[in-house]
Amino acid sequence: MEYKYNGIILGKRDLGETDRMYIIYTLEAGKIWAVGKGTRKPAARLAGSLESLTESEIFISKNRGRGNITGAIATNCFPSLKSNFSFLESAFRAIGILEKLITDQEKDERIYVLLSGYLKMMNKAAGEGDEEKKDILTAGLIFKLLDFSGYRMSFDACVGCRNKIIPGRNYFSAPLGGVVCPECFSGKGETRVSDGCVKMVRIILANKMENLGKLKVPSNDIKNAQLIISEQVKWIVN
Ligand SMILES: [Zn+2]
Repeated sequence: MEYKYNGIILGKRDLGETDRMYIIYTLEAGKIWAVGKGTRKPAARLAGSLESLTESEIFISKNRGRGNITGAIATNCFPSLKSNFSFLESAFRAIGILEKLITDQEKDERIYVLLSGYLKMMNKAAGEGDEEKKDILTAGLIFKLLDFSGYRMSFDACVGCRNKIIPGRNYFSAPLGGVVCPECFSGKGETRVSDGCVKMVRIILANKMENLGKLKVPSNDIKNAQLIISEQVKWIVN
């Protein structure tokens, strides 16, 4: 049987002498693995449409086990993103987190739309050389991914007492998955969270990816958000 997928290539691993195993996030079946026969040969016809961070229509023939890729047509190549090293590095780091958070063959159309939107916006920002936007979009992707994978962090109410978080001296707790107020602060591993960071995450969680392109955030608040992401992801995957 041959199946058609809309997929985003997340990564690839060498397989034997001439083949590759591809990791693909698909609209139809979530994260899947499929073999590209002969894709490491110099004149491989399929290889271009199966480059990492390419959105393609992918045809896979499957009898049992992992399928073989029989055809691929690139629909979005994101050339500006791929030619900008710092954007590429951020995107691959984000994809690495996505791979850890998401289990195989669990379909979630929201994640596909999110990832596709992220790559489109990163491609545009890379063309403009907008590094600040790169960091906002990447943080946005991870906060939304965490939300969609069942790890929505609380940035409205304190995870200790459930009171509304008001501007001031607040903290972030990775084990509790959200912001703690000064009264609930225990001093055991919480991270200081700035008012600007709290505001940024609230906006990210309430808006679509496409709306985040206009967001302006001071760089120290972005750094604060990146620290929170790394603590939360570390806590979840370890
Ligand atoms: Zn509290």
